[in-house]
Amino acid sequence: MKEISCKLLVIGAGPGGYVCAIRAGQLGVDTVIVEAGKPGGTCLNVGCIPSKALIHAAEEFEKVAHMVGGKSPLGISVSAPVLDLTKTVAWKDGIVGRLNSGVAGLLKKAGVKTVHGWATFRDGKTVEVETETGSQVIRAETIVIATGSAPVELSFLPFGGPVISSTDALALSAVPKKLAVVGGGYIGLELGMAFAKMGAEVTVVEALPRVLAQYDAELTRPVVKRLAALGIEVMTGAKAKGLSTKGDALLVETADGKNTKVSADKILVTVGRKPVTEGWGLDQIDLDMAGKFIRIDDQCRTSMRGIFAIGDVTGEPMLAHRAMAQGEMVAEIVAGHKRSWDKRSIPAVCFTDPELVTAGLSPEEAKAQGEIKIGLFPFAANGRAMTKLGEDGFVRVVARADNHLVLGIQAVGQGVSELAAAFGLALEMGARLEDIAGTIHAHPTQGEGFQEAALKALGHALHI
Ligand SMILES: Cc1cc2nc3c(=O)[nH]c(=O)nc-3n(C[C@H](O)[C@H](O)[C@H](O)COP(=O)(O)OP(=O)(O)OC[C@H]3O[C@@H](n4cnc5c(N)ncnc54)[C@H](O)[C@@H]3O)c2cc1C
Repeated sequence: MKEISCKLLVIGAGPGGYVCAIRAGQLGVDTVIVEAGKPGGTCLNVGCIPSKALIHAAEEFEKVAHMVGGKSPLGISVSAPVLDLTKTVAWKDGIVGRLNSGVAGLLKKAGVKTVHGWATFRDGKTVEVETETGSQVIRAETIVIATGSAPVELSFLPFGGPVISSTDALALSAVPKKLAVVGGGYIGLELGMAFAKMGAEVTVVEALPRVLAQYDAELTRPVVKRLAALGIEVMTGAKAKGLSTKGDALLVETADGKNTKVSADKILVTVGRKPVTEGWGLDQIDLDMAGKFIRIDDQCRTSMRGIFAIGDVTGEPMLAHRAMAQGEMVAEIVAGHKRSWDKRSIPAVCFTDPELVTAGLSPEEAKAQGEIKIGLFPFAANGRAMTKLGEDGFVRVVARADNHLVLGIQAVGQGVSELAAAFGLALEMGARLEDIAGTIHAHPTQGEGFQEAALKALGHALHI
């Protein structure tokens, strides 16, 4: 059995692990990273990137489909478009492949050694990796667990046959005629809307009274409206119960307690993700847990000396950029820098149609802390949004009433994901309403909606 030793060993090369390893390498830390699959983890291979590629293709297809027969107000007329999903998926796989090589190259450039295989703890300083060429033992002074998360499987709707996970949905060879989506969270709606645009008849089954239930109703209203416009049936307060005997329908208990069938050739289950805490010897090292996640402190240290944990395995929000920020911080701590988690916000984006962004506190959360001011500016009054046929939606700014410190920013609208950077920066810099209102925003852009929302909260919006 081969043996190597290093200062830092990172388990998992998702956004958390690979960023940690690259930064550690840059800082001259002797680093090894172990990955069982492809570099980039869930995010790059079966998450953020491939889903956004598919969503983009679906948007383009729908845009063109809307121009058939001169229906488009833009005056463009085309004949019926045709979608070849295998080509779309091949294009998406090409992007993923390029990024896989990019991450592998960045790790190499930073001097990080990559070991391919599944890692299992032997003890708090030793890991054994099953590689293609046999077992490899790695001893390390410090270990970072970045094992990520996996889709939750329902016992009464196990993955297989017509029942698919988000991973399977990203690799279909044909658009399902009828798609049932179990779970109306962001992953279910992003993919459900994309398939509806590509021509599938989509039904969303959500147990809670609302879809995207973690966001307030005002914010999600434009998305709900668009779901209806796309012909997506949304069953709220409804429970998926299983697969019909023939395998061609989803059994559902509706909000009023009636049993019904939703016919479907594919059933996409997106009811959440669970941390990967099994199969790598967690029992060998006996870490404290926080529910199903690994408990960490504000430096991502676990309960065992010399072991850190980052990313989805450590809790919500399970987002790539949180994992990356934790990875970068831990690398610097390992290199001897003084760092701890001091972030004011982790922006979150839903790539639904329209898109949705939140950063910082919601109006409800802010209200619980004291008196607040809210400024909301609708895209219906924004010139750029009008030129993009994207008038539905708004930017909303939430600030303390006394000193105008901005506590939260939300937006819903076409393309607002790109505003997440401005929102995050404003919160991180401790901006007041006057700072945003006093910043010249380029015209005509949707960003002006941000400035106008701050002006509105101050009582003197200009364009409304
Ligand atoms: C469909 C979908 C869309 C998403 N969209 C977004 C989005 O738009 N924005 C966003 O921020 N987030 C999005 N996410 C979530 C995002 O993918 C995760 O938050 C992110 O990947 C977490 O990073 P991580 O490094 O913690 O773990 P992961 O990315 O899950 O990576 C963990 C890696 O560890 C490896 N591994 C695990 N155990 C071992 C072991 N014992 N030995 C060796 N290797 C091991 C795995 O193979 C995996 O590659 C999406 C997720 C899905 C499923």
